[in-house]
Amino acid sequence: MTGPSTLPHVLTGQEASDWLGGFPAREVHFPGGPEELAELVGAARADGRRLAPAGAGTWLDGGGWGRPADAVVSMRRMDTTVHYEPADLTLTVGAGMEWSALSTALDAEGQWLPLDPPGVTSATVGGVVAAGMSGSLRTLYGAVRDNVLGIEGVTGEGRVLRFGGRVVKNVAGYDLVRLLTGSRGSLVAMTAVSLRLYPRPATDRTLLFSGGVPEVLRGGAAVARLPVMAAAVDVDLGDPAELIVRLVGSEVEVSAAAAAVRAAPVTGSLLESDPVEGGESRALHLRRTAWEDGVPWVVRCSALPEHLETTVQVARRIADAWHGDVTAHVQQGVVRVKAGGTLPADAAQDTGKLVLEARARMEAMEGRLVVASAPSEASLARSGAVSPVVKQVQSRLKRLFDPDGVLAPEAPSS
Ligand SMILES: Cc1cc2nc3c(=O)[nH]c(=O)nc-3n(C[C@H](O)[C@H](O)[C@H](O)COP(=O)(O)OP(=O)(O)OC[C@H]3O[C@@H](n4cnc5c(N)ncnc54)[C@H](O)[C@@H]3O)c2cc1C
Repeated sequence: MTGPSTLPHVLTGQEASDWLGGFPAREVHFPGGPEELAELVGAARADGRRLAPAGAGTWLDGGGWGRPADAVVSMRRMDTTVHYEPADLTLTVGAGMEWSALSTALDAEGQWLPLDPPGVTSATVGGVVAAGMSGSLRTLYGAVRDNVLGIEGVTGEGRVLRFGGRVVKNVAGYDLVRLLTGSRGSLVAMTAVSLRLYPRPATDRTLLFSGGVPEVLRGGAAVARLPVMAAAVDVDLGDPAELIVRLVGSEVEVSAAAAAVRAAPVTGSLLESDPVEGGESRALHLRRTAWEDGVPWVVRCSALPEHLETTVQVARRIADAWHGDVTAHVQQGVVRVKAGGTLPADAAQDTGKLVLEARARMEAMEGRLVVASAPSEASLARSGAVSPVVKQVQSRLKRLFDPDGVLAPEAPSS
């Protein structure tokens, strides 16, 4: 991939297609700052063209649900550090900064940004904030929106606006930063973001247990109920199933937490492998963010953690039909299913019915089922029905930020 400093201002023709990787647009623009972007948006507005804001373009098609645009506007050239105050644990960077480059730089300062959504290793900071997705670390460190302090962006009217600030206590009036986080480029094209940082924990240890599916699930539920707060309690439902417990903190805290996990009901009867420590523990969890990379069909079921067994049952029904795999974030009640590959024609046809039945079961316990990825030709609803009131609020917000619909039309639904 071309580095940001060598990127041209615009790609067209074959070069644009290569960058877009199948996303239907004709051009890719790389503005160098908010003013240049505002000019692009203003021109698109005048010509009635649609722009899709982007980062590295790794998830532009939104798992098969993205809408076409006339041009994509990537923030990749806006990749500098605007402001970094290590002592305050706050940072402002260009939205196009690579997540992995930022992590490496923070590591050198003994700090980190504990967010682990799918695909994070190849994402930009703006892409992560725009998608607003969380992973296992959410229970301990909060969701993406809890860690975004401020956003600078360009509205669909071509206005450069700044929301929130650089410091932790700055909210007065409506918290628009939380609204924009997860808005997937539909309200503003973000040019810079201010984030809250954390000291990198001295000890990062992952305990691994294996056994039968019911035992491992019960073990995971027991660990999630302990008074010690684990950074991840995940279960991979393979054969054998695996319980993955990540503990972070000082050595004393982690050792005490590990003893409590081993003494929890059920974990004692599981087979424990050697714990994974430090950089290896971090690498293991980063690899897990790529669990669904390149998979054509992915479904995410979520409900209160107390319904985990039922949620897993629902997910396993789909996995059986797809010859796929299931993984669960136990603390959050989130269970993901991925297909074992491209579905055979008969399974693809039956998937619509299967997903609708599974969604009905999830909704019966006030849960949700979201089709996170599907081939673009699949005729499936991505998520359950959105209430008319929510739709009305969404379209009012869209009109406020982007009255002529210049920016990505997709409303956030996951
Ligand atoms: C395999 C895989 C599965 C994923 N699953 C999900 C999922 O289920 N749900 C989910 O929400 N995310 C999902 N993501 C997205 C992921 O969490 C990251 O946010 C994404 O990888 C960001 O990468 P990027 O910088 O390449 O953004 P892009 O792929 O360029 O953009 C991703 C989205 O964010 C918007 N966007 C990007 N940058 C900006 C910006 N500066 N301003 C405004 N909007 C912007 C785009 O319009 C697009 O909607 C997935 C990613 C991968 C690779």
